[in-house]
Amino acid sequence: MFSKILIANRGEIAVRIIKTCRRMGIKTVVVYSEADADSMAVEMADETVFIGGAPASESYLVADKIIAAVRETGAEAIHPGFGFLSESAAFARRCAEEKIVFIGPNPHAIEAMGDKIESKKFAARANVSVVPGHVGEIDDTAHAIRISEEIGYPVMIKASAGGGGKGIRVAWNQKDVEEGFPAVRAEAKSSFGDDRIFIEKFIESPRHVEIQVLGDKHGNVVHLFERECSIQRRNQKVIEEAPSPLLDEATRKAMGDQAVALARAVNYDSAGTVEFVAGQDRSFFFLEMNTRLQVEHPVTELITGVDLVEQMIRSAYGEALPFRQEDLKINGWAMESRIYAEDPYRGFLPSIGRLVRYSPPREGEVAGGIVRNDAGVREGDEISMFYDPMISKLSTWAETRDGAIDVMGRALEDFHIEGLGQNIPFLAAVMDQPRFRSGKISTNYIKDEFPEGFQGLPPTNGQRDLMNAVALAMHRALLARAAPDQLRSDWIVISGHDEQAVNVAAIDGGLTIKGEGRTLRLEDIHWRPGQPVFRGNLDGRDFTVAVKPAAEGFVIRCRATTLHVLVLSPRSAELHRKLPPKKAADTSKMVLSPMPGLVVSIDVAEGQSVRSGEIVAVLEAMKMQNILRAERDGVVKAVSVKSGDSVAADEVLVEFA
Ligand code: ADP
Ligand code: ADP
Ligand code: MG
Repeated sequence: MFSKILIANRGEIAVRIIKTCRRMGIKTVVVYSEADADSMAVEMADETVFIGGAPASESYLVADKIIAAVRETGAEAIHPGFGFLSESAAFARRCAEEKIVFIGPNPHAIEAMGDKIESKKFAARANVSVVPGHVGEIDDTAHAIRISEEIGYPVMIKASAGGGGKGIRVAWNQKDVEEGFPAVRAEAKSSFGDDRIFIEKFIESPRHVEIQVLGDKHGNVVHLFERECSIQRRNQKVIEEAPSPLLDEATRKAMGDQAVALARAVNYDSAGTVEFVAGQDRSFFFLEMNTRLQVEHPVTELITGVDLVEQMIRSAYGEALPFRQEDLKINGWAMESRIYAEDPYRGFLPSIGRLVRYSPPREGEVAGGIVRNDAGVREGDEISMFYDPMISKLSTWAETRDGAIDVMGRALEDFHIEGLGQNIPFLAAVMDQPRFRSGKISTNYIKDEFPEGFQGLPPTNGQRDLMNAVALAMHRALLARAAPDQLRSDWIVISGHDEQAVNVAAIDGGLTIKGEGRTLRLEDIHWRPGQPVFRGNLDGRDFTVAVKPAAEGFVIRCRATTLHVLVLSPRSAELHRKLPPKKAADTSKMVLSPMPGLVVSIDVAEGQSVRSGEIVAVLEAMKMQNILRAERDGVVKAVSVKSGDSVAADEVLVEFA
């Protein structure tokens, strides 16, 4: 076996690879950029090599620097992780020339599958079902319209070199093609330096189901079943699971056979993923093959017990696969939630900064299942604007799909992050939605369920009880410190428009709360004044909620639900009812930059009248363009920046009169 491997990546995937190497007794070298000097991967590696500036183009993407680091450290092989150089056939070939083992497929396979047009032609020849469409380049808009009419609307316009959800557009009619074709072409040119475009049928209400394949250098190829990744935002995966609730045994076998046939056709000799788009009727069509380890590989590991990184390393070393297809079985169900640095309450705006608090759930066996958290960060680390905004990947396993969802819901409750926007409440919302639980999902799920964006979910009765109980316990603890003479048993709890009269009594380590004709028991309380997380057990169920004192009362978040809860004596409640309702807070007259970034455009001018919702500016950060919209109607008084400027977080961009 190799004695030393260099990891040409960063973040959680570098940490993930180090863990397997350690278990296999292989030493690791991690290369790092300026932005990652204090990272967890650097701390964990046996050796590290600095390779340059924070932008990937100055470090992680520079083949010469990676090769030099291999020479310097005497590593025998390179694991590229995903992204960066992982799907570069040129890099894989260069490694071969330099007699360094590339832990991934052979360059021919990368090349054959790296291009969407070429891979579709290949797939069609291997008898894999491909999306109906025009598998070839399209010259101009007139040609695009002709092809779209032949295929029949709706169609999808795609960049052949596209990836990561970029360079894709749906067209429902001729006008969409007229607009979309040049737009996709321009994006393809600027993002991938390759403006070849093709068009295929857009499968409506589709599901994304993909097959994990694994091959060796002895001609063996197996598949490790499917993953469903239909919960996507802007064609980017957010929640993945394995197996897929859509497939039956026959479809699973047909899809697996096609994936293996395609992999065999390119002599595939590592871990890879064959992606399909599937109809609700279980028809399925080949999308693309990703010739690398996939972000969502943990769910496959959880249901098969196979360590995919270990198998990639063994195959690259020349070992034969240790199992045959018939040895592989699906065991239970796994879910993965991608925890992203983005604010779901503000249109999923990327949010970068310091992880002032980072407290993940406990990993390993828990009641009903297993929790796994793949992360590359620690408390105090920074999520920078230079790389992918993923903070961690939280995965769970249980015997059944319901069980895996339950364990995920609980694990998300136990995940506490402060200092930047994060999507945990959003992920919790999906876990709590009956439609997700029913398994009737599609890639439109997020658009269907949150058409106006995400504002959290309304509380269920149980959640309101829970948050009221938490408020009572916190209020009581604070009062016991500050004014013990005011402790009493009868209180009025106000949350939103709901008002309840309750009677509270202390029990060992908790409270009983009588009201509305029933008694709740809040026990096992873990909270002290000042702490942002409250743990306890309500009527036999463990829970965790996020808590914050407000000017009056508390703001409590339970999963996807946030409530402002007030605890008042009956006399204060009387007075409270007489208060005029508060006016909504005055929104600021400034449009501030939500994060450090580059101004792409300022779309308003001084003196211009702007209506709420209109685009004010476009900012580029975290590899994405972010549209900033006016939050209210107004007249622009001043514009303080211009396109091309770099701006800091909270810098004033535009001011309204
Ligand atoms: P796909 O959407 O094609 O199935 P994945 O969801 O596995 O692919 O990942 C999307 C892309 O995001 C990857 O190809 C990679 O370019 C990028 N990416 C995600 N996480 C990272 C990371 N930690 N480092 C580098 N690139 C990443
Ligand atoms: P990328 O390289 O960016 O991952 P893909 O071709 O894999 O690009 O497409 C990304 C996502 O777009 C898919 O997961 C799927 O949700 C959607 N998609 C792609 N092609 C189609 C299609 N023909 N019909 C419907 N949805 C599609
Ligand atoms: Mg894809």
